[in-house]
Amino acid sequence: MRVRVDGKQCQGHGVCYMTAPDVFAPREEDGHAYVLHEEVGPELEAAARDGAEACPERAITVE
Ligand code: SF4
Repeated sequence: MRVRVDGKQCQGHGVCYMTAPDVFAPREEDGHAYVLHEEVGPELEAAARDGAEACPERAITVE
């Protein structure tokens, strides 16, 4: 599974990395999210989807 954060849509609310800290992390400078590993293995797919669904800006895509 591939996971991406749209840096323009992300507002840094932090819900994704609070929901799925093994998939998402905050950038130090502004708290906006990035994906720890673009390719997410099966063991973290559910967490990645939960994080994406929790994002109020719909900035995360999983495919
Ligand atoms: S929940 Fe969405 S808006 Fe908030 S930090 Fe994560 S990607 Fe950005």
